[in-house]
Amino acid sequence: MTMLFLAPELKGDSWIKHIRSQDAGIDLRVWPEVGRAEDVVFALCWQHPPGELKKYPNLKCIGSLGFGVDHILRDPDLPPGVPVTRLVDPGMIAAMSEYVLAAVLSHTRQFDLYRQDQAQKKWTARIPKRPQDVRVGVMGLGHLGADAALKLRAAGFAVAGWSRTAKQVEGARSFAGDSDLDLFLAQADILVCLLPLTPATRGILNRRTLAALPKGAYLVNAARGEHLVEEDLLAALDSGHLSGACLDVFRTEPLPEAHPFWSHPGIVLTPHSASHTYPAAVAPQIVENYRRVRSGQAPLNRIDMDKGY
Ligand code: NDP
Repeated sequence: MTMLFLAPELKGDSWIKHIRSQDAGIDLRVWPEVGRAEDVVFALCWQHPPGELKKYPNLKCIGSLGFGVDHILRDPDLPPGVPVTRLVDPGMIAAMSEYVLAAVLSHTRQFDLYRQDQAQKKWTARIPKRPQDVRVGVMGLGHLGADAALKLRAAGFAVAGWSRTAKQVEGARSFAGDSDLDLFLAQADILVCLLPLTPATRGILNRRTLAALPKGAYLVNAARGEHLVEEDLLAALDSGHLSGACLDVFRTEPLPEAHPFWSHPGIVLTPHSASHTYPAAVAPQIVENYRRVRSGQAPLNRIDMDKGY
């Protein structure tokens, strides 16, 4: 009953330490030192080599080492019928909301302009809009989006959310489904993307949807780089339709040195660091799922393969 750590790009030491601290008896192997493929029942994955998972005939659960599962579902050779799970962690949720608030407030309070003024020793008071006059639209009202919406609301912003199905988040207006998308976009002075990456949401931040935002709108993308058509953002910024963007995620990561985002005056960027996964915080839920799988129970935080999240 082996648990396999299959995350070639991650440093495994801290993960292994914290998983073992939950249960020293776990038969935990680190890919590529797998041993007998038949023994593997639980695979913990981050950016695994495509085709690898089908080599384990007794696999009973594929666990994502993050909130998203797009890195797992992009494997065309996933073993059929094996449940896929994701992490859910209050600390990561709080960290993402903090990032979103920081991005929104730094934009509305014009910190970048003050920084430029400071360099020129310019004393210019800029009158900010009152938060209740700033409409923030959150795309995705799941674990991350719902918390961000609540905290933006608590900071005084006029908040709306867009999800596949209608949601009730206190104080936030709910828009749902493709039929509501344009209405939702038309009232978002600041658009925050916290959607999962699925076939339906890939490229959703594009020329058409960016054009549907009010003139001068600001974009925050902390979900996945592939939600955004990057050249469409550049065009929207350069035409003056958008006033700026704060981006944490990119189509290619690390962002290539020659990428125009690095030097664009309208873009603030961070290196996929909006919300960090702490192995110590999530090791208990990983080991709980391993135990459940071993005893024939359904794992927690299983994603819906049809929806892709
Ligand atoms: P959840 O699965 O909890 O929520 C997803 C939300 O998106 C739901 O409200 C869902 O609607 C909505 N949604 C999905 N598809 C559509 C669609 N086609 N149209 C409209 N709404 C849709 O996800 P999380 O909140 O946990 O995470 C979101 C993503 O954030 C992750 O998948 C990951 O990619 C990214 N992320 C980024 C991090 C970073 O550091 N930058 C860190 C962690 C996560 P409904 O509720 O109706 O189903």
